[in-house]
Amino acid sequence: MSKGIYVVVEQRSGKVQNVGLELIGEATRLKQDLPDDVVAVLLGSEIEGEVEKLFHYGADKVILVDHPYLKECVTEPYTKAITAIINEFDPEIMLFGASSIGRDIAPRVASRVKTGLVAETTGLRTAKTEEEFAKEASMGCADPTRALLMTRPAFGGNLMATLMCPRTKPQMATVRPGVMKKIEKDETRKGELIKYNVDFTEADMNVEIMEVVKADKKSVDLTEAKLIVSGGRGVGGPQGFDIIRDMADALGAEVGSSRACVDAGWIEKDRQVGQTGKTVRPDLYMACGISGAIQHVAGMESSEFIVAINKNDAAPIFEVADLGIVGDLKVILPKLAEAVRKYKASKATN
Ligand SMILES: Cc1cc2nc3c(=O)[nH]c(=O)nc-3n(C[C@H](O)[C@H](O)[C@H](O)COP(=O)(O)OP(=O)(O)OC[C@H]3O[C@@H](n4cnc5c(N)ncnc54)[C@H](O)[C@@H]3O)c2cc1C
Repeated sequence: MSKGIYVVVEQRSGKVQNVGLELIGEATRLKQDLPDDVVAVLLGSEIEGEVEKLFHYGADKVILVDHPYLKECVTEPYTKAITAIINEFDPEIMLFGASSIGRDIAPRVASRVKTGLVAETTGLRTAKTEEEFAKEASMGCADPTRALLMTRPAFGGNLMATLMCPRTKPQMATVRPGVMKKIEKDETRKGELIKYNVDFTEADMNVEIMEVVKADKKSVDLTEAKLIVSGGRGVGGPQGFDIIRDMADALGAEVGSSRACVDAGWIEKDRQVGQTGKTVRPDLYMACGISGAIQHVAGMESSEFIVAINKNDAAPIFEVADLGIVGDLKVILPKLAEAVRKYKASKATN
């Protein structure tokens, strides 16, 4: 019988990435209804030093494949290793980050093991109601109590679709970085390490990496930011972002944006928050001159505290805001930035 909630944990330059820890967190939540082990799959070269961390964040077991071919993510060896793990261990569920790595590897693996894949999910849960069990059973699911319901935006984000994979295993999904929450780190947690060998041949390494070049443009990772000040079309143009940057600077925050401004060329794409941008979960998200379209909200509604500034008191962004300010951002933001700087200066002198 298929068993285990598996998470493929990404590493870059030998360091485990947050998205893997977030997925382990989600797997521990799924485990409350589907009491299988949470198993992290870690591929890399000389990477055993990262294993403990996976236990600390909730993994019961770690399957480690350590091989020079896996130092960087190369499509063929990664696909081969994960496919071999599925064939050997027969997981019930397998989760990947919807990152460039997960988007590349997950569909290939799904195709090789002949199962389905739900891409870019934003919600995962087990089937719970009699109606859901009956639906799963009618579609050929042998044990509906182990069925995973995977939710993702559909039709341009205008509705949320819940999908199932009733007949084949594993039930596979990719999840966007920032959507799920890590659990609290517990350094006393221990688990079982399984070292797994994959029979690589020279032909598997069908790509030669000459050099790894990091993008020289300073790209931001909004998914890691604790504070974000975002601007929308209401800033009025590329210069309008000077006010947003100044507010962000006062707070020590990152600058985000709606897609409208990215499409208009006012700001770089890696600043875009939303369904086709980044999913963020900062402690503070300030939406300035952003109307609150469903596709934007999908990427920021899990923020701890949302402040919206908009001159239209009926703007939908106020529906998700914890604090709404109706007014002109060009008047409000400079005053707010000044007040924050004054407050910080007074704290520093006290
Ligand atoms: C498939 C698909 C995917 C998409 N993905 C994304 C995505 O990832 N992220 C995203 O953001 N959008 C996305 N969109 C676009 C989305 O539908 C909206 O068009 C977009 O979010 C609107 O951006 P906005 O709020 O900046 O602009 P607008 O909707 O034009 O809103 C501007 C707001 O600024 C206010 N305003 C104007 N002047 C001022 C002022 N001086 N002071 C204060 N407030 C002012 C206005 O009242 C208005 O509410 C997507 C759309 C589709 C179809």
